[in-house]
Amino acid sequence: MTRSQIEDIKSMVGDDQVITTPSTVERLSKDFYWYSPVLKPALENRRGEVVAQPLNTNEVAAILRYCYAHEIPVTARGAGTGNYGQAIPLQGGVVLDLTRMDKLEQITSDGVALCEPGLRLGALEGKAREQGWELRCYPSTVVKSSVGGFLGGGSGGIGSVAHGGLRDFDTVRALQVVTMEPEPRIQLHEGQAVHDILHAWGTNGIITKIWLALAPKVEWAQAAIAFETFEAAFDFSERVAVDDDWTKRLATTFEAPIADYFSPVRALCPLGKHMVFMLVALDQLQALKQTAIQAGGTATYAEPYRGLKFAPLLSDYAWNHTTLWAIKHDAAYTYLQCGFDPDRVREQMALLRNRFGQEILFHLEFIKNSEGRVIPAAIPLVRFVSAERLNEMIACCRANGVFVANPHVNNLEDGGRFREDHVQLQAKYRYDPKGLLNPGKMLSFTPKETATEETVR
Ligand code: FAD
Repeated sequence: MTRSQIEDIKSMVGDDQVITTPSTVERLSKDFYWYSPVLKPALENRRGEVVAQPLNTNEVAAILRYCYAHEIPVTARGAGTGNYGQAIPLQGGVVLDLTRMDKLEQITSDGVALCEPGLRLGALEGKAREQGWELRCYPSTVVKSSVGGFLGGGSGGIGSVAHGGLRDFDTVRALQVVTMEPEPRIQLHEGQAVHDILHAWGTNGIITKIWLALAPKVEWAQAAIAFETFEAAFDFSERVAVDDDWTKRLATTFEAPIADYFSPVRALCPLGKHMVFMLVALDQLQALKQTAIQAGGTATYAEPYRGLKFAPLLSDYAWNHTTLWAIKHDAAYTYLQCGFDPDRVREQMALLRNRFGQEILFHLEFIKNSEGRVIPAAIPLVRFVSAERLNEMIACCRANGVFVANPHVNNLEDGGRFREDHVQLQAKYRYDPKGLLNPGKMLSFTPKETATEETVR
């Protein structure tokens, strides 16, 4: 970008809303891509040229109008906690940092939050709880990450055992999106049309308003339960997870020695034990402890949950935080994102163990799928040997009916959550014909001038 283009953008928004300091631009061009030893070297040197921080939808539209006219790439960014380089600009240009658009406009009486994309999920959870509601699901990065970034790049997390992921059960009611066209349009996507934009990595429109359905607030308790064998830990967590009589928000199983790496809560995780972390309704805590004892477990922690600001916060060790603690312990760890077949999960895990031994360690998270069945998803730890070996493991999973959303690729299609009905791709053709939004991340897109009838369809 030229100096005069940067000055032009400054003139559209306030001076203090455009960042050019190289170290800050670099920081705001990065996310948690380094979780992947494959992506780390590939993305290390990629960055934007300037960061713009719009304060409202009109400023977003003005920036997009200018960038369209000057063919400048624009990459949306929330808190930058995504894992696959989703928010890393591959072709420079503007990093559109939406964190200053962080208003919670309303929580309706039937529990729908209307907010801007930069609102932090943790702040929304806090406000919702004050009004008798809570998030249906959230990532373990809840305190830092933004609602818009979660919709743009996330999938589910704590709460998904009861409410499914972001794609399910009409959790995302509607989105307002700004398009990348000569005259940007402000489009409302409601109902099924939200899927055009969800988990599209900001490649087909900038989300500027969100209607997110909440769940009635529950008084929660946290429990950590230790088991002598992985089989006993898994059986117990599965039993609680699939049984509708338990009101729960988290059901996580860690094969030993994973919990040994959780240094701040080592006192709750006896060395070498297989651990289960759970969030259940407070009035079910005693029953949970008894069920755990009957299953051969020992509750090392069982207390009321006091909120995101109070330690110990067991969700800080679940979902992809598990991988973070493991990497802190030993940089040779990385991970996969899997979905086991609920009817074959034990056989599938045995098969992977036989083939890969301790190169794979099982970390399971139960989630409700779109048909309402609770199934064992997993974010297993993997000891990284080489990209070839990682691909061998992924191929082995897939050949044996284990779904893999590959976290070691930097494009939507290979990441495993690209919609097969191609609605995200079609929205890109409608809203970003020149392919300037987060370019390089949606591989099946070809700019219109060169697109064939086949690709546009
Ligand atoms: P960013 O990383 O800033 O952006 C994510 C993507 O969304 C990017 O492609 C960006 O371009 C796009 N985007 C951002 N804002 C907009 C917008 N307004 N309009 C259009 N596109 C936009 N994810 C889960 O789903 N579940 C988990 O449990 C989970 N656990 C995690 C644990 C750790 C330790 C880490 C590092 C990551 C984890 N993640 C998880 C990934 C990530 O934290 C979440 O998906 C998070 O919600 C992303 O929000 P963000 O604000 O950081 O988004």
